[in-house]
Amino acid sequence: MIQRPKGTKDILPEEACTWQYIEDNSKRIFGQYGFTEIRVPVFEHTELFQRGVGDTTDVVQKEMYTFEDKGGRSITLRPEGTAGVVRAYIENGMASLPSPVKLWYNMAMYRYENVQKGRYREFHQIGAELIGTSSYEADVEIICMAKRMLDTLEMNTVKLNINSIGCPECRAQYQEALKDWIRPNLDRYCETCKSRFDKNPMRILDCKEKICKDLNEGAPAILDYLCDDCKNHFENVKATLDKLKIEYKIDSRIVRGLDYYTKTVFEFVDEENGLTVLAGGRYDGLVKELDGQDTPAIGFAMGVERVADLLTKKVKLSNPTPEVYVAQIGQEPNIFATLLVEDLRSKNIYAQKDITAKSLKAQFKYADRIGAKYVITIGDDELKSGLAKLKNMSTGEEIETGLNADEIADKLK
Ligand code: ATP
Ligand code: MG
Repeated sequence: MIQRPKGTKDILPEEACTWQYIEDNSKRIFGQYGFTEIRVPVFEHTELFQRGVGDTTDVVQKEMYTFEDKGGRSITLRPEGTAGVVRAYIENGMASLPSPVKLWYNMAMYRYENVQKGRYREFHQIGAELIGTSSYEADVEIICMAKRMLDTLEMNTVKLNINSIGCPECRAQYQEALKDWIRPNLDRYCETCKSRFDKNPMRILDCKEKICKDLNEGAPAILDYLCDDCKNHFENVKATLDKLKIEYKIDSRIVRGLDYYTKTVFEFVDEENGLTVLAGGRYDGLVKELDGQDTPAIGFAMGVERVADLLTKKVKLSNPTPEVYVAQIGQEPNIFATLLVEDLRSKNIYAQKDITAKSLKAQFKYADRIGAKYVITIGDDELKSGLAKLKNMSTGEEIETGLNADEIADKLK
């Protein structure tokens, strides 16, 4: 038997209804904030992610699904959404749209990860990008929207952590201080950290190796190095969140796994399982880095698998069950039933009938197993009289109905 590849997941119907709930809710909230959907390709030129995400990140160095296509191009399955969305924004001249441009997406992502709980190789993100303003209000709006989305999804054990990682100017100073702090112990860090020390020392703070995490205890905090502009921006974000009574914690260890972030970064972490369900931040340099006009932006991505996991524990959602099952016995009744369920469906009623030549007894058993609310039984006698019994499957109560879709629809109400 061929099995699914490691790190992938089949979403069976019983779980798919939870996914639909998450998708419907997110879509509704995006609508309330003026975000419209964008869909971009599953694969892009590898260079997009090398430049966008950053070539010293875990994602680019270790996790990308990269291959050469038959035309000799280097192609990568998207490991995240922002780079592709920003590429599309630039390529399609979206800078001429009313600013800011507000986009959302719901897409599968691909990363060659160490598979573990809540960590897959194919996973899904519902995300948002707000492109075209450096205002702190944009940060607040993005965080509010993320919070509202999680609230409607019953994520009440999820807590908001925020940080600012400054701009290239203040970061330059910080990186020197960080290097001075790390240098005496550098030979004890993992090989990856060592290799990043010169080019991108902040990546070391995001290392998942235990030894590196321990060594990082007490490292200087970027917050102490912010320039006036970044400091003001962060103060304004915090003050407005306070006014909105949105609770948060400052976590100076958040640096995020992708290089394009600037200023505000944030994560919503589930307290019970310790997993981040939604994360994001500002990326003021990315549009320019990808050859667009210098355009500030901010966004987030929510991990659908992780949210679905938590939501299933809190609410039991299920697929709809038939309003009515039409049981029949005999050739004429069978044909009549086929016409009748079609009539009922035209009236927007979820109706089913047997299509496998089951016995009447087996039809009732099936109707019960699929949770039909009513069963109507049609035989030759019913066809002659034009009347049939409609049985309420939960109470066992039976009422008589005329054999036409209008009357049945009425009775079902
Ligand atoms: P982590 O530090 O947990 O690896 P990250 O910084 O790589 O996270 P992002 O790229 O910002 O995460 O992704 C945003 C969200 O997408 C995460 O908070 C998580 O909910 C989800 N996510 C990321 N990678 C995976 C994965 N491999 N499997 C399932 N969900 C994921
Ligand atoms: Mg990761």
